Order: sequence, then structure tokens, then C-alpha cells
Amino acid sequence: MDIQEWEVKKLRLADLIPWPRNPRKIGREAYERLKERIIARGCKFKCPFCLLSGLKGYREIPTEQVVEKIRQIPRGSMAAIFAPERTSHSGWNEIKAAIRDQSIRDYGSDARLETLEKVDSDSVIMGLEGVSYRLRKSIRKNFTDDFIIEKMKDFCTSGKRLRFGAKISIYYIADLPGEINEDYKEFLDFIRRIESENWSRNLCLVPVLNPLSPKPFTQLRDAVIHPFRNYPAIWENILRGGDNNRRWGVRIKEYKVWGCFERTVDTIVHRGGSEGYQIIGKLNDKLLRQVPADWERQVLVSKEILKVCDKIGLTQEKLLYEYD
Ligand code: SF4
Repeated sequence: MDIQEWEVKKLRLADLIPWPRNPRKIGREAYERLKERIIARGCKFKCPFCLLSGLKGYREIPTEQVVEKIRQIPRGSMAAIFAPERTSHSGWNEIKAAIRDQSIRDYGSDARLETLEKVDSDSVIMGLEGVSYRLRKSIRKNFTDDFIIEKMKDFCTSGKRLRFGAKISIYYIADLPGEINEDYKEFLDFIRRIESENWSRNLCLVPVLNPLSPKPFTQLRDAVIHPFRNYPAIWENILRGGDNNRRWGVRIKEYKVWGCFERTVDTIVHRGGSEGYQIIGKLNDKLLRQVPADWERQVLVSKEILKVCDKIGLTQEKLLYEYD
């Protein structure tokens, strides 16, 4: 197939992408007012832990169509203009201009650190993944603390954020291959630096830690998984001031971190094949919906599940790629 033919096919497929209604449960009135507009599917990047780029090739809705659809949204409405990495849409500047012209309150907020300056809204979500430079480098996100802090400063001190404040959510991945305690010490230093900056008075920081979920077909599919590392406690300690047990001088919002139960179940789903499916199918619904809150109980339940797996040949070595 020559390239021109492929391009035509790509555009036709893109034209067929629907403009879905927002499925989130946000209350009836807000639901009727909120519009979600998907402007691209798939992603141009290939992060080593992310399945998306392997599942769906990148396709974007042509800019003129996006702009036309945005013009149909009533002026002043709330809307989420969404793509997995929307700032890399080839017509992003025109799309942004259309959003501004319609006075739309845009709730789409994903971006990459490199393109933070392309975001107009007061809140942004980005993935840095590694808590230290060494770990970021290992997954091809070679961002130094200096570079990250410079970008965050520019974001917090530009546009209406200077007056109304900024919110930056940063996704991190725990249990990346080769992780050691020093990586978290470096992360503590990173927050200390943010705390010491004047511009951070303007900031609400939301660091979110997601332990590694080994997705098939990704480069990290065979990573060793340590479900019994107590990441919820490690993260809580850091976000509540570190070892000195004080509060940070920068506003920090906390989110729950997966414990060993969620990680065990997740690994069985990804690595257990049809036997794993049988095990998950037998787990009590109530257990799946109400994960035990305390760590000790989670460890007990998770180890019981691993014992059952072991009996049908899904050994810890097969699931976690190491023995406990
Ligand atoms: S993590 Fe984000 S930027 Fe990376 S491939 Fe997935 S969607 Fe794209």
C-alpha cells in the first residue's frame, strides 16, 4: 500500500470517530451542560509502560472538523476537549483559539511536561513517572529537577494562573525496575525545592503514585513486581512532610495509592492467562469491591490468593517474576 492511500484511509477512519456524550456521573444538571469532545485517539509517543500506543495507532480528527464542532458548543459552556496527549494534535493552536473564542470552560487537562506552555487552563495533569532523575531516564523521560521546576514555575507565573492560582497533578510510577530508597530521598529534595520557591505559594500540587501495572506487549511487561512493598505508607509519609513529620509549606493534595491486594489482583489479571481468569472469577464480589483498609489484612488476603494460584501452577515466579 503506498503512503498516499494509507493517508486517505487514516483520514476516513478518523472521520468515523464518534463524538460521544460524557458518560461520567457528575450530577444531572452538570451532565447536561458538560460536553466532551474527543479530538484524537491513540498516542504519538511510545512510553515503555503504556499499552495505549500499542493498542491504537495515532489518529486525529482534522483540525477544521474539531473547530467546527467546538463552534457548535454553546458559548460559555463547560467542555472537556480530550485526547490522550492533546497538546500534540497538529492543530492544537487553532483548537485553543476556538475554545477561547467560544469562551468555553475547558476541563481537559492532560499534557506533557515539554508542552506545558501550550496549556491555557489553570490546572494540568502530566506524567513524570520516575520519582528520581535516574528512574525517569530509565523510561526515556530524561527530565532533570531543574528542568521540571523551571517548567512548573513558568506555568504558575503565566496567564490568569498568576492571579487565580494553579493546580499541577503529577503521575509517578512506583516499583519501576531498579528502584531504591535513594530515589524517594531525591523526591523529598524535589518537594523541598518547590517549597522554597516563592511562586509555589500560588500552587496546589497533586502528586499521584501508581505502582507499576505490567501491561502485556509493553517494554515493562516482564518487570519484577513487589506487591508487598508498602507504597501507601511510603507515599503518605512523604506527602505529610517526610521523616520530620511536619507539614509542607506548599499545598499538597493526596490520593490513595494501590496496596498489595490491588497489585496482586492486577498482576494475576495481566500475567495469569486463563488460570488467572478462573481465580479472579472465584473471588468474592464483596472482597473486590471493599478492599481491606489495613495493610496487615491486605497482606494476609493477598498471600492466601497467591497460595491458591500456586496450587494451580501460577507460582509466584510466574506471576511476580521472583520468590517472596
Ligand atoms: S503514557 Fe501518555 S504520552 Fe506515553 S504513550 Fe501513553 S498516552 Fe502517550
